[in-house]
Amino acid sequence: MAEQKRDYYEVLGVSKTATEDELKKAYRQLAKKYHPDMHPGDKEAEAKFKEASEAYAVLSDADKRRQYDQFGHAAFDGGAGGAGGFDFSGMDFSDIFSDLFGDFFGGGARRQSNGPMKGQNLHTSVVITFEEAAFGCEKEIEMVLKDECTICHGSGAKPGSQKVTCSKCGGKGRVVMTSQSLFGMVQNVTTCPDCHGTGQIIKEKCPDCHGTGYIAKKKRIEVSIPAGIDSGQRVRIRDKGEPGVNGGPRGDLLVEVRVKDHPIFQRRDFDIYSNAPISFAQAALGGEVLIDTIDGKVLYEVAPGTQTDTRIRLRGKGIPSLRNKNMRGDHYVNLVVQVPTGLNAKAKEALKAFDAETGNTLEKKTPNDGPKKKGKKKFF
Ligand SMILES: [Zn+2]
Ligand SMILES: [Zn+2]
Repeated sequence: MAEQKRDYYEVLGVSKTATEDELKKAYRQLAKKYHPDMHPGDKEAEAKFKEASEAYAVLSDADKRRQYDQFGHAAFDGGAGGAGGFDFSGMDFSDIFSDLFGDFFGGGARRQSNGPMKGQNLHTSVVITFEEAAFGCEKEIEMVLKDECTICHGSGAKPGSQKVTCSKCGGKGRVVMTSQSLFGMVQNVTTCPDCHGTGQIIKEKCPDCHGTGYIAKKKRIEVSIPAGIDSGQRVRIRDKGEPGVNGGPRGDLLVEVRVKDHPIFQRRDFDIYSNAPISFAQAALGGEVLIDTIDGKVLYEVAPGTQTDTRIRLRGKGIPSLRNKNMRGDHYVNLVVQVPTGLNAKAKEALKAFDAETGNTLEKKTPNDGPKKKGKKKFF
């Protein structure tokens, strides 16, 4: 989009620290005010409604909100693009509506009976490794997808048989229902339950698809998972959902990504955290140590006299950003000094000599700190 998008918090008129309830309340008010059903043909109201819906969809999702807080609108630009792009553009607002308004906007409001209708979205999940999430990957999943029945071409009627006009709706595919809602009595136009909106009733069902018009088949689907994705985020694959109705497009397949725990690395947003052991001698003398990163082992120069639990930062060794693979978080490493165990006689002698050379340095250095120690401490 060429024009500047408004800040989501500004759109909803809430503060950056707004709670879930505050968001919901603000959105409910805006949605009520601008819902297209209340302003048929009013483009401005529609745009406002969409803007508020988008803002709410992002801010009501803890993960997306965090990304938005960090990166702004850029968090949702680009992605992998095309099939398997990062799921944002087509958020399922119907979930939000049913959550907020119950059935009020359901039925006829969203579902244009008889007209072409997009098929339902399908949902599935895929488990990937820490590294796969970091660098992106291709996964193949198996799904049972419905395809148009080749015998009846989706009509559901036995070839050569006739369909008859539905008596419940008189062929219109819609029926008017009156119901009580939070805005008072409303008349809802809903899909005819008898003919499911087709306006016609099948007398003789197609034997192949049993009148459904569809045949279910197992299919293998390629999922392109973008680098930087995190657990709980979804990848949208266009046109791999349920078939559309009345010539409408297929729904989409939404693949939720679950990232397996890693034995060494932990992730917070785009940063990685881990512990790395260094020997007592390395800590005291300084020197090069090998540290595990998602790019493999990295040589790091430890300063002489490094204490245990010293945190170092490996810049740019974290997780790539979803919006730009070349922007990466950092990797924070906690250096843990290993106290030597299982010493042989020679090593023990060396340590005793070391202690004799340096022993009691704590007391020597800080004669006035802490309680006076009784006598000289014996370590061996
Ligand atoms: Zn059929
Ligand atoms: Zn009907």
